[in-house]
Amino acid sequence: TLPTIFVITPTYSRFVQKAELTRLSQTFLHVPQLHWVLVEDSPHKTPLVAGLLADSGLAYTHLHTATPKERKLQDGDPSWLKPRGAEQRNEGLRWLREDRRAPQGADSQQGVVYFADDDNTYSIQLFQEMRSTQRVSVWPVGLVGGMRYERPVVEGGKVVRFHTGWRPSRPFPLDMAGFAVSLKTVLANPDACFDGNAPMGFLESSFLQGVVTMEELEPRADNCSKVLVWHTRTEKPKMKREDALQAQGLGSDN
Ligand code: UDP
Ligand code: MN
Repeated sequence: TLPTIFVITPTYSRFVQKAELTRLSQTFLHVPQLHWVLVEDSPHKTPLVAGLLADSGLAYTHLHTATPKERKLQDGDPSWLKPRGAEQRNEGLRWLREDRRAPQGADSQQGVVYFADDDNTYSIQLFQEMRSTQRVSVWPVGLVGGMRYERPVVEGGKVVRFHTGWRPSRPFPLDMAGFAVSLKTVLANPDACFDGNAPMGFLESSFLQGVVTMEELEPRADNCSKVLVWHTRTEKPKMKREDALQAQGLGSDN
């Protein structure tokens, strides 16, 4: 049987949330043996997300944990000021370690863990590439870091450096969307997690440093020559007219 891909996605309430999660869930429907771990940045599970998951046709686990106020990006803060989604990814890891701690069958510790933000764009081919991850697999990410793409550079089948526009000396100058970890590795390193206080650009390194070395990285997507995931970002919709109607008591509810 195929190893299960556990996709951990942090998500938070905003106008585009349902659209993002619809797009994501309908990509995942094309992927066999995928389990979606959707973690709301919220003090409780919301009916919107619960309903969407229940109707999605996917195997899933619905979790929540609120980012502490002092760690949360405030309106008007530049987006790079604080890492987003760290607590939620850690909550996903916590659930996974708990759920898979005791082997429930021969295959229950066979799997792959991928951290998929809710606004990126994923090719279904990416999931075929990551399915065979032994420890940590890596590939390019498009439209990120002020570049057309960032990627690990591969020579002789090994990652030798990183093509990135910014601080290539970081331990792992990789975007969150650019790697997957085997479930075995997650279970064998029970303390590995994301540091919500990591400086800009170091969130991925805070996790990866605890589980892998550069020499061990497994290149995918044709020796990291193909872009199969894009760090797209959705424009915040303007609600000017909606707000005007609300003010007249004529607004729509949802
Ligand atoms: N996110 C979250 N809480 C927040 C902001 C973001 O859970 O307050 C989630 C978001 O839904 C996404 C991930 O964290 O899945 C990364 O956030 P975002 O896409 O805004 O980051 P960027 O694209 O700037 O890297
Ligand atoms: Mn994003």
